[in-house]
Amino acid sequence: MIKKNCRLCNSKKLYEFLDLGLQPPSDQFKFIQNLNKPTEYYPLKVNHCLKCGFKQLNYVVDPKILYQENYPYESSLTNEGKKHYKEFADSSVKKYDLVKGDLSIDIGSNTGTLVKAFKDNSLNAIGIDPASNICKIANKRNLKTFNSFFDNKITTKILGKYGKAMVITGTNVFAHVDNLDSFTKNIVRLLEPKKGIFVIEVPHFLHLIKKLEYDTIYHEHLSYITVEPLIKFFKKYNLEIIDVQQRDIHGGSIRIFISKKNNFSINRSVKKICKLEKNIRINSKKTLNDFAIKVKQNRYQIMSTITKLKKQKKKIVVLSAPAKGMTLLNYCKIDKDYIDYATEKSSIKQGLLTPGTNIRVFSDKKLLQTKPDYALLLAWNFSKEIIRNNHKFMKRGGKFIIPIPKVKIVGSKNAKN
Ligand SMILES: [Zn+2]
Repeated sequence: MIKKNCRLCNSKKLYEFLDLGLQPPSDQFKFIQNLNKPTEYYPLKVNHCLKCGFKQLNYVVDPKILYQENYPYESSLTNEGKKHYKEFADSSVKKYDLVKGDLSIDIGSNTGTLVKAFKDNSLNAIGIDPASNICKIANKRNLKTFNSFFDNKITTKILGKYGKAMVITGTNVFAHVDNLDSFTKNIVRLLEPKKGIFVIEVPHFLHLIKKLEYDTIYHEHLSYITVEPLIKFFKKYNLEIIDVQQRDIHGGSIRIFISKKNNFSINRSVKKICKLEKNIRINSKKTLNDFAIKVKQNRYQIMSTITKLKKQKKKIVVLSAPAKGMTLLNYCKIDKDYIDYATEKSSIKQGLLTPGTNIRVFSDKKLLQTKPDYALLLAWNFSKEIIRNNHKFMKRGGKFIIPIPKVKIVGSKNAKN
């Protein structure tokens, strides 16, 4: 569905500044027997609202297609991720004096990493997630998870069963929601009116633009968040942003604390982050157009590096296959003709083919069993951890290609060839 109005302010004055072409949904990994079945492609373009400054995709793929039964992402994978969620829960509990038995609700809770972190703080912690396979994993871990989108129905059900929540969280979920009005109305219904806080964590568009993280643009990410437009939006619902904290995860995220109006004092951080956005002229057409040019240049650099290595008959594989890597592979047209295989920790993706580029995914072990020359690192936000975990590959002479923001090749000085 083509989006003609701004998701926040409904304005029709939208300015398209980036076109990443037609792409398949980045989580639609294919079974090998379906290799010859057609892949569905959808436009991947980003608009800027000239009225309120909100950045958003111009096309919304039906969520039923995106959040299918076999949704392949598991949040409980990396140590860095686990640590991050623990810190998230621990610091929120401390900061807002949450006490034993308080209700916490995590929206888009995945396998329950954050639910567990709140539960470990003695909160009455529950989660909601639309992917049934992932809910099963969470419930097996004894983390109460409802299989649902966050809508009126589940809100009513939770209110009846558990009452109002002291803390509602959504990490990497707010930007996935098309109808933010209905979403926010349900938050208001669920939130305890005096002390309740709503915390979202989203990649900050400021980092996306500064560090050229264009691969984090894919169909599930409908919005690219800056703080200023959100302040106005939340006002409509008698909510206000009371604090914004910067976090390193996912290439630079912001944690935004929201409450009903006049319950908490507003931290200086809110003004500060708006100033940072203003300083890089985040709403100017020139800034956005310059970014689009750099994205094209990066594609050229990646394509020429890979082509050059293939001419030298080098074997290249892809190490880890996150959703964002699929944007990069499809945009740069790097497919199975260039890449021998991909590896991935998540067992859900193993044995499948990457969407659009048909690269077969194996377990991480394959990297040491075969001897590729180069490993293209698509999960660059975890590159330190991944390189550390694969030091044997590097010791044997293997090299890593880090594609973003500039193509960088990393190898060991002491490599034995
Ligand atoms: Zn707008």
